Amino acid sequence: MTDINFAQLALFISALLICVTSVIFTVIQQRTDKLQNKIYLILISIVGLNAVSQITRVFVDPVRMDSDGAFFLFRLCDYTYFVLHTALSPMFFLYVCIVCGYGGKGPVFRRNLLLASPFIITELLAVINPFTRWVYSYNEARVFNREWAENLIYFAAAFYFGLSFFRLIFTWRALTAKRRTALIYFFIIVVVGVILQFVNISIKSELFAEALALLGVMIAIESEDDRIDIDTGIYNRKALQSDLSTALLNKRNIDIICVKITNIDLLEHTSSSDNSDGIQIVIAGFLRTLVPRYCIYNTSPGTFILTVLDGDHSRSLKMAEIISKRFNNSWTLGENSLLLNAVVMLSESPERIKNPADVFYMADSPVPTNLDKKVLSGRDLDYLMRRSAVENALARGLEEGNFEVYYQPTYSLAERRLHGAEALIRLHDSIIGNVYPDEFIPIAEQNGLIDDIDDFVLREVCSFIKSGVPARLGIDCINVNLSVIECMQPGFVKHINTITDEYDIDKNRINFEITESIAASNYETLSRVVASLKADGFHFSMDDYGTGYSNMRAIFMLDFDVVKIDKSILWSAEESELGKIILESSVHMIKQMHRQILVEGVETETQIELLKQLSVDYLQGYFFSKPIPKAEFIQLVESARS
Ligand code: C2E
Ligand code: CA
Ligand code: CA
Repeated sequence: MTDINFAQLALFISALLICVTSVIFTVIQQRTDKLQNKIYLILISIVGLNAVSQITRVFVDPVRMDSDGAFFLFRLCDYTYFVLHTALSPMFFLYVCIVCGYGGKGPVFRRNLLLASPFIITELLAVINPFTRWVYSYNEARVFNREWAENLIYFAAAFYFGLSFFRLIFTWRALTAKRRTALIYFFIIVVVGVILQFVNISIKSELFAEALALLGVMIAIESEDDRIDIDTGIYNRKALQSDLSTALLNKRNIDIICVKITNIDLLEHTSSSDNSDGIQIVIAGFLRTLVPRYCIYNTSPGTFILTVLDGDHSRSLKMAEIISKRFNNSWTLGENSLLLNAVVMLSESPERIKNPADVFYMADSPVPTNLDKKVLSGRDLDYLMRRSAVENALARGLEEGNFEVYYQPTYSLAERRLHGAEALIRLHDSIIGNVYPDEFIPIAEQNGLIDDIDDFVLREVCSFIKSGVPARLGIDCINVNLSVIECMQPGFVKHINTITDEYDIDKNRINFEITESIAASNYETLSRVVASLKADGFHFSMDDYGTGYSNMRAIFMLDFDVVKIDKSILWSAEESELGKIILESSVHMIKQMHRQILVEGVETETQIELLKQLSVDYLQGYFFSKPIPKAEFIQLVESARS
C-alpha cells in the first residue's frame, strides 16, 4: 500500500484555492454578464473541477487496490479530469478571440467547423475512453498507463494554444499594454507548467500553472478598474478607445449612438458635481434598458456613447429615436426633477467610422446650434466632415500662410473722414476655398489655434503701422479683435507687449476689441488685463454691444474707450418702434457713461441720417466699404482724401 502523496496534494489544493479566489472576485465585482466573462468563468471552473478530481484521486490512490469501489472512484477522477481538461485549450482560444474583438455572428466555433474538429475529435476520444482505452488504460496492478491517443489530446491542445498565440499577435496593435502582458504571461506560465509535467509525470505542475495564469488574466483583463469611472460605475473613454480599436481591427460592423446633453453646463452651474454624477447614473440606468451595460460609455460629462456590434441598422435608428423621445420627459434625481435637452447621433462603420478617433470626434465636437432635428444620422452628420475639413484648413493655414488680414475702414462723424480700420482675418484655403471667420473662429477657439491666429493678426497690424502708411493716410488707430479666452491666460499682457515692442510702434495706434457677452463671465481677471494694457497705451473697445447679456457694469468698470453697437441693433431700429427705442436709449446711456460710440453695419444713407441725429462718434459698414485687402484699403483711403 502506498501513502498519500502530500506534495501533489499541496499543489492541487493550491490550484483549487486560486480558482475559488478568482471565482469569488469575479462574482463580487459582478463581472458575469459579458460573453468574455462567461468564458472566463468556464475556464476557471474547468481548472477548479480538475483540481477537485485530482485531490480526490490523491486520497483514493493508496486504497485503490483494496476495494473495487475505491478503484471505481479512482477511475472516475481520471475520467472527469480528461473530459474536462480536453476542453480547456479550445476554450482558451475562444477566450482570446473574444478579448481580441473577433466576433462575427455567434461564437467562432459555430462558424468554423474545421477549426472545431480537433476539439470535437479529442473530446470524443476522452468521452469514449472507458470502452476503447485509446487515451489511457490501467494494467492488472491498477496502474495508470498513457496510450497513443493521449498524444492527440496534447497535439490538439498545442494546436489551439498556437492559434491563440497567432490571434494575439494579429490583434497586438489593438490591445492595451496590460492585456498584452497578461496574455503573454499566461502563455509562459502554462507552457512551463505543461513541459515540467510532460517531462516527469510525477511533477503535477500543469493545473497549478493554469490556475495561476488564469489568476493573472483576471487581474489584468477581467478586472475593469481602469475602464470604469469610480464615481458613476460607467465605462470610460479608455474602455471605449480599446473596445473600438479591437472591434474595428476585426472589421466588425459597429453602430454608434452618441447622446449629447446640450444643457449640461446648466446642470453644473445649478447643482453640485455629485448631482451631475447622479444624473449621469440615472441616464445610464435608462440606457441599460436598451443595450447591455457593457455597451454604454461616458466620454465626458453629458456625453454617452452606445455601441451596437453587428446589429441591424434600422433597429439602431429606432433605439436612437426612443432615446431622443425619452428626453421630452423630465428626469428624477432625489427630490429634483430636471428637464434635459439632448441630441442623439447615429453613425456607423465602415461608412462614417473608420477609426476610434472618428467616434471621439463626434462625441467631442459641439453640435450645431441651428438644428431642426433631434436625431442625426446619415447626411445630417456632414457637419462633422465640414468641421474637420475646417480644422485641417486652419492647421494648413498657419503652416502655408493662407491667412490674410483684411481691413474695413471706420468713419468719424465729427471729422467727416475715414479715421480708422478694423482688422478682420480671412482664410484662403487651397482645398476648401475661402472660409469666413464666423465659421472658423469658434472652431479655432475650441482647438486652441486661436492664439496663433490672433498673434498673426496682431503682427500684421503692427507691421502695417510700422510701415508708416496708416499715419500718412490719417488712420489714427487700427482695431484688432481679441478672443476673450486668450485674454484670460496668464502672461497675456506681457505677451502682447512683447509682440508690439518688437515693432517699436506707438501703442496708442492699436485698439483691442473684446466681445461683451463673454466679458461678463470672468470679470476680475479681465478688468485687470484691460487696465494693465490701457496703462501701456493701448485702447479698448467693447464689441457686439446688444447681442449677449448686456452687462452695464462691464462697460463701466472695464474702462472701454469705445462701445461698438452691434449691427442687429441698428437694423432693428429701422424695422420697429421698439428697435428704435432700444438704439436710442443705448446710445443715450453709453454717452452718460462718457464712452465713445461706434455703430456697425451701416449700409444705407438713411441709417447714416439716423445716426447723425443721435450724434454717435463713429460708423462702420458696407456703406463705406466691406473688409478689403491691405493694398485696396490703402487705395480707398487715398482716393477718399483727394
Ligand atoms: P465682428 O468683430 O463683429 O466683425 C464685424 C463683422 O461684421 C465682420 O464680419 C464684417 O465683415 C461684418 N460687417 C461689417 N460691416 C457690415 C455691414 O455693413 N453689413 C454686414 N452685413 N456685415 C458687416 P467678418 O469679417 O466675417 O467677421 C466675423 C467675426 O469674426 C467678427 O465679428 C469677429 O468676431 C471674428 N473675427 C474676425 N477677425 C478676427 C480676428 O482676427 N480675431 C478674432 N479673435 N476674431 C475675429
Ligand atoms: Ca470686431
Ligand atoms: Ca462686432
